[in-house]
Amino acid sequence: MKRKTVCIICKKEKKGTKVSDDRVVSSIRKVKQKLGIAQNNILVVCKEDMPIYRQKRASFEKYFLIWGGLALLLFLFHLVLSPTLTGIAFSLIIIILLISFSLIRYFPKVEEHG
Ligand SMILES: [Zn+2]
Repeated sequence: MKRKTVCIICKKEKKGTKVSDDRVVSSIRKVKQKLGIAQNNILVVCKEDMPIYRQKRASFEKYFLIWGGLALLLFLFHLVLSPTLTGIAFSLIIIILLISFSLIRYFPKVEEHG
């Protein structure tokens, strides 16, 4: 079966810059393969959608930084103020939640050169 290259923004079959296969992308693929809904397409961002892509990626990075920073602060706060096992376990759960929140906006990186 020939693999199609599909733009992740306009969802059309187009040529473009390849999306890099990071941990999130490959775990999503693994889940899809398990469920039998993997399409095996090569994901790209077409030239026309590059500006939209940059915006989305930047917004994800900002989001991730804010939530990630908040999670880290919370963890340090707990570590200093209530260094109990339950306190730390609790803040770890919150951290995982916060990071999952930021992943809602997840947008993979493309293999841009230069
Ligand atoms: Zn496109």
